[in-house]
Amino acid sequence: MTRYAAPGAEGAIVSYESRYDHWIGGAYVPPARGQYFENPSPVNGRPFTEIARGTAEDVELALDAAHAAAPAWGATAAGERAGLLNRIADRMEAHLEELAVAESWDNGKPVRETLAADIPLAIDHFRYFAGALRAQEGSLSEIDDDTVAYHFHEPLGVVAQIIPWNFPILMATWKLAPALAAGNAVVLKPAEQTPASIHVWLKLVADLLPPGVVNIVNGFGTEAGKPLASSPRVAKVAFTGETTTGRLIMQYASENLRPVTLELGGKSPNIFFDDVWNADDDFRDKALEGFTMFALNQGEVCTCPSRALVQRGMYGEFLEAGIARTERIVPGHPLDTDTMIGAQASDEQLKKILSYLDIGLQEGAKVLTGGERIEYDGELAGGFYVQPTVFEGDNRMRVFQEEIFGPVVAVTSFSDFDDAIGTANDTLYGLGAGVWTRDMNTAYRAGRAIQAGRVWTNCYHAYPAHAAFGGYKQSGIGRENHKMMLEHYQQTKNILCSYSPKKL
Ligand code: NAD
Repeated sequence: MTRYAAPGAEGAIVSYESRYDHWIGGAYVPPARGQYFENPSPVNGRPFTEIARGTAEDVELALDAAHAAAPAWGATAAGERAGLLNRIADRMEAHLEELAVAESWDNGKPVRETLAADIPLAIDHFRYFAGALRAQEGSLSEIDDDTVAYHFHEPLGVVAQIIPWNFPILMATWKLAPALAAGNAVVLKPAEQTPASIHVWLKLVADLLPPGVVNIVNGFGTEAGKPLASSPRVAKVAFTGETTTGRLIMQYASENLRPVTLELGGKSPNIFFDDVWNADDDFRDKALEGFTMFALNQGEVCTCPSRALVQRGMYGEFLEAGIARTERIVPGHPLDTDTMIGAQASDEQLKKILSYLDIGLQEGAKVLTGGERIEYDGELAGGFYVQPTVFEGDNRMRVFQEEIFGPVVAVTSFSDFDDAIGTANDTLYGLGAGVWTRDMNTAYRAGRAIQAGRVWTNCYHAYPAHAAFGGYKQSGIGRENHKMMLEHYQQTKNILCSYSPKKL
């Protein structure tokens, strides 16, 4: 086991500044109204830096800088933009541990995951879009012998991006990489709960970024996010966050007829068919690991498999093994490499989860394991920790219908295929789903029948850059990842050209 030193402590590989301003036009700029807010680490609940509290004035300055930079950036060759993305990826790779520790400290997630997933995925994302851009081609339609329709990709111009707190660097990357590849300038607002790690990233790559191409305005949703999403000076709004906020973002953008992409909440079903129990040990073990994925990232994942549907023929045995496995999830210090579950991202989120633990009990759900806050002494005292929790109940309960966004799974049983699909689709959301079976016919039919943008089949929580990701129903509009994402940040220009000598 390795324990990384906390930022600022002796031997630390990350040092946060005591204060961060906005990053506008290639330089740090203090907030127009001179206000800052404190940013606590979820690890111990204590503030470790303060952050500029952005307002409409700061957003306007950032938009000025982005508009000044956009034409030249949009006119660069694809190879130049791909080069920038690759250089960012190289820089991140050379500082992987530093970024991983910075992310854990700001968000509370275990460094084991930031080292193995968050930061490597972000690096790969930049590389993927560098390659996708180079491979992107326009098209030509042959209208008749003398008439040709050319289709070109053009950048949108200046785009607004607003991100949540659950994967601060990865969510920023999911937004920045395709937008920059497509030739746009960006104004990005990080979440107020996790505003700091992106500045560690920025420090590493600032010298690579042409001034004004990436601008970061910090602050709260209504004070900084709303003026950004409402601005007629942005050509698109890309948002990841709660469904209720997504609805507001769409309203703001509609005033200016601006396109939106929305990545919103979920209540993803994880379906385990009976044959899992009779399969070989490795597959059964993999499925049980899939069951415990609800606790990954402390459950603060939009695709958290927060509803487990287990077929009746193996229900008792499967659940018993699933609970035993859940109880082996190692809680602890987020900067220990052995820790499997760290801190929830904020005090507010901790309270929300604890309130759902009460709601579940009140509505008659049974706690099979967990159900309590974890309170540590010493270094972690004051941090935001919760036990992985398994509820048993039925799909009408609030703990089955509402996004808790914590390490909580609600389990129920099903009789047959139709019952499983009926329960899986009985939700407002449609982001992710899991299907576990060795019968590929069942797997295929379930995958097609579930109303969700991503159906993991015999796996869960994998996020390769080249697989499309996004929601059905109230989980969102549009997709992220995959080369199709480039077009979400581009206009299509059609030039319809006649080479005919004949008169019209
Ligand atoms: P949130 O909606 O509260 O906040 C997200 C961002 O929006 C923050 O930067 C916040 O400051 C900003 N914001 C809030 N109100 C705003 C307003 N009125 N105008 C403009 N901006 C505003 O969400 P959160 O609590 O930070 O994140 C958790 C949510 O994100 C969960 O619902 C989760 O499912 C979702 N999520 C979805 C995906 C996905 O890809 N579908 C990925 C990660 C998280």
